[in-house]
Amino acid sequence: MKIRILSRNSRLYSTKRLVEAARKRNHDVEVIDPTKCDLVIEKRKPSIYYKNQFLDDTDAVIPRIGASITFYGTAVVRQFEMMGTFTTTESQALVRSRDKLRSLQILSRARLGLPKTIFTNYSKDVTKIIDHVGGAPVIIKLLEGTQGLGVVLAETQSAAESVIEAFNGLQARVIVQEFIKEAGGADIRAFVVDGQVVGAMKRQGKEGEFRSNLHRGGTAEVIQLSDEEENAAIKAAKAMALGVAGVDMLQSSRGPLILEVNSSPGLEGIEQATGKDIAKSIIRYIERNM
Ligand code: ADP
Ligand code: GLU
Repeated sequence: MKIRILSRNSRLYSTKRLVEAARKRNHDVEVIDPTKCDLVIEKRKPSIYYKNQFLDDTDAVIPRIGASITFYGTAVVRQFEMMGTFTTTESQALVRSRDKLRSLQILSRARLGLPKTIFTNYSKDVTKIIDHVGGAPVIIKLLEGTQGLGVVLAETQSAAESVIEAFNGLQARVIVQEFIKEAGGADIRAFVVDGQVVGAMKRQGKEGEFRSNLHRGGTAEVIQLSDEEENAAIKAAKAMALGVAGVDMLQSSRGPLILEVNSSPGLEGIEQATGKDIAKSIIRYIERNM
């Protein structure tokens, strides 16, 4: 099979592992940079031109599209879809997953547990916003943030008010969320492929840090999910229509609460914590669809 991995950097751990796993299963695999693809759109015969060749022999693509290239990257994935190529992540699902607010709305409709969240159009009634999520402490998140940057824990009512007002003043859109204290600075990442959890880890923030992101100095260890957690992860990936998803959840006294669903989840942390061959699960997912 001819598999193309859409990634800007063939040296990244995840990209390298996917290449390795595809070769091991005797596939012809190539990494192509989606930002260097030209899309040819015409009647009947959509095609993609890349470094002097037409990519018309692709059986499947694995999109590894970073947040900074979402627009162009999804256009490339969509073009492959038009050409009848199988993709492990559909372009529409990828677009949806990049919009934090829209994602929360979709997850809420699917009746998944979520931290109670409020979003307003820069409402001046900041006291009411904070009251809506149960009062301080609250979490305030920049809509555009990733890797834990732009996530603030405001411990008191007055701190929360000033942070929200400051963001409003900068015309930076934020969501305000109830703080799940009992999560204890930890979260769970469940890696879902084709409707099944293929690995799960618990990430713990460093001492005194409420954010568990590995980029913020958190550490990860393998975890056995409860049935409820496993079902929530599978349901969240399904609601987002993602064939490959990294589902982040908080463990709360009312069960698992979904934080976000990542559409290009990294393989390094999860493979190291679990010792599992997650790359192989993704290649096998492709094989089942050929
Ligand atoms: P990002 O997408 O930037 O990683 P997250 O929404 O995942 O932002 O938040 C980063 C981390 O902060 C989470 O992994 C979690 O540990 C912590 N966190 C986020 N929201 C809450 C919340 N409502 N209550 C408690 N901890 C939270
Ligand atoms: N892109 C990374 C992932 O999806 C971010 C995870 C993190 O910050 O911990 O695994």
